[in-house]
Amino acid sequence: MRAENVSARDVLSPLIEKYKGEMIDTMSHMISIPAISPESGGSGESKRADFLESILKGFGVETKRFDYKDESGAVRSNIIARYGSTKKVIWIVSHIDTVSAGDLSLWNTDPFKAHVSGGKLYGRGSCDNGQAVIASIYALKALLESKAKLKYGIGIALVADEEIGSTYGIKKLLGEGIFGKGDMYVVPDWGTPDGSKVEVAEKGVLWLKIKVTGKQTHASTPEQGANAYRYMIRLLNELDERLHEKYNNKNPIFEPPFSTFEMTKREPNVDSVNIIPGTDVSFMDCRVLPDYALDDVLSYVNSIAAGYAKYGVKVEIEPYSRDDAARPTDMNSELVKLLAAKIYKLRGVKITPVGIGGGTVARYFREGGMQTVVWSTLEDVAHEPNEYAIIENMVNDAKVFSNLYV
Ligand SMILES: [Zn+2]
Repeated sequence: MRAENVSARDVLSPLIEKYKGEMIDTMSHMISIPAISPESGGSGESKRADFLESILKGFGVETKRFDYKDESGAVRSNIIARYGSTKKVIWIVSHIDTVSAGDLSLWNTDPFKAHVSGGKLYGRGSCDNGQAVIASIYALKALLESKAKLKYGIGIALVADEEIGSTYGIKKLLGEGIFGKGDMYVVPDWGTPDGSKVEVAEKGVLWLKIKVTGKQTHASTPEQGANAYRYMIRLLNELDERLHEKYNNKNPIFEPPFSTFEMTKREPNVDSVNIIPGTDVSFMDCRVLPDYALDDVLSYVNSIAAGYAKYGVKVEIEPYSRDDAARPTDMNSELVKLLAAKIYKLRGVKITPVGIGGGTVARYFREGGMQTVVWSTLEDVAHEPNEYAIIENMVNDAKVFSNLYV
């Protein structure tokens, strides 16, 4: 028998299969400890981090804790585990915070009590991003138990605050000197149900807060005021048409393959039918292909808005949130090839590189020029009531993760 056949034998998958019950237990326990940001009514990740740290320590892994106090005084906890002396590290980065449960009446079971049925594990944060958290730590456990010879160092990052912008998660951690420029990063925070797509690019994301100020008056005497709502509608319609017209490039790797400009949230204005509103505030969510600079989009929006002065209203445009698109990860990079090879070996599936509307923490690594892919085998149920993870996906993704290192 040739040597390469011996080394190609997968000793890790049977180990992970054996952990299945334990993985379900750990996930269930984790779900019972909420980790919601104060902005969404929670108290941060520290209790959940305590639990996960104890699990990792139980595997015999050294962990490092990075706790940051946020503006509300809540402790936002991140855990870093490193193993192996190999210089180049593959990091698996998942987030331990979740969104809130939302409308409880829409849940069939308690969102903070795991419910297993039909091969699915239900609970808030089971899919986003619990499946990845559990898969990554049990991949590590299998690598330790197998005593496999490692080609890459193992890095597990369980991070805070992803749902609200990563201020106390990845953005802080990137300043701690943990992550190497030459390391490689897997972010399992997006995926398709068959695991056949790997995300290598994200669009730029620009949220606009648009405020139109006119003059409030009685609805029977509109000539004495300036209806802010009327000009808001006109402006939104004009922006909708002109932004789509001007930024019309197509790039087939993205889903959808073009930039999107959507009017979304609208603040309440007046509470009587017979009052003409003096102010109106609306929001747009823009997802822009990397071909265009967000600065350019912003100044185009401002130039259109300036045209409304002639109607006697003032328009203010505020970039409410913005994340410029980072350079995509090369489809022929070591990481994309490695992941493709392991998925093909374990599942016989050929992966397709794609770009998405964003945004995951991958963009922060890509901004630093680091090779980063977003991949997992995932149902599209994040943030929904009755969110669930398919147990087989959690187990099978752990097999892929562990195989990346050998
Ligand atoms: Zn997520």
